[in-house]
Amino acid sequence: MTKFARAVPVLMYHHISTSPGMITVSPEHFAEQMAYLAGAGYTTIGSAQLSAYLAGEPLPEKSVVLTFDDGYLDNWVHAHPVLQAHGLTALCFLVTSWIGEGPVRAHARSGGAMPALLNHHEGERAIENGEPDRAILRWSEIHAMREAGTFEFHSHTHSHVRWDQVSAHAEEKCAGLSRDLASARAALEQNLGAVSDHLCWPQGYHDADYRRIAAQAGFRHFYTCEPGSNYAGRNDDAARSITRLEVRNKPASWLASRLWVHTRPTISRAYLKIKR
Ligand SMILES: [Zn+2]
Repeated sequence: MTKFARAVPVLMYHHISTSPGMITVSPEHFAEQMAYLAGAGYTTIGSAQLSAYLAGEPLPEKSVVLTFDDGYLDNWVHAHPVLQAHGLTALCFLVTSWIGEGPVRAHARSGGAMPALLNHHEGERAIENGEPDRAILRWSEIHAMREAGTFEFHSHTHSHVRWDQVSAHAEEKCAGLSRDLASARAALEQNLGAVSDHLCWPQGYHDADYRRIAAQAGFRHFYTCEPGSNYAGRNDDAARSITRLEVRNKPASWLASRLWVHTRPTISRAYLKIKR
């Protein structure tokens, strides 16, 4: 008898890097985590399958979604080759104003001198100083990852600005977000040919205005930083809020225990209640 998923965990990664820092998983731990997923029979599913699942279609019992926020260069250097080796797939949310031009840089399994990797704070400073290319993917690398089938790419806005924090009033906030989403859409359409209806909120922030503006801009799936698992057939077809589990810089055994919990609806909900 085929068993179907009762809950689908969506994992949230940022950096996979040898430069330690905030929201960073080491390449060793990442490789171990991916080997665990592949060996334990997990299926990594894409955005279209997740969407169908949320609408009520069945998925295999051990289904999981991998997501990467912000489009860091280290995703190409350290995540892409590991995903490729195992035949696993992930979603990456791009901040389109940060993406550079130029040739593909070396990755961990391509041979050649790998680019220096900045830690999270150094990367933030590089972006502030107008040098995002030192920290962020290039379009050439994005294309190579798409062609390899390791990553699909979605919007994380054009600027990553928290419009709620920089705006004097609600109209300014709404106009800022609206422009930001339109600019990201234009960049993604120009470079990738299409834009999905999956959007990742910068810093996980959203409010009623944000949700209304993003829905008007055509988005239907919203990736939050709120912890939890995801369940089929929920009665919210207009807007699907997707909860995620932040992956720590820990060995595969840690990930295994998190997935055990969050593929079981009752246990997942009880666990989150206790943690709160
Ligand atoms: Zn982000």
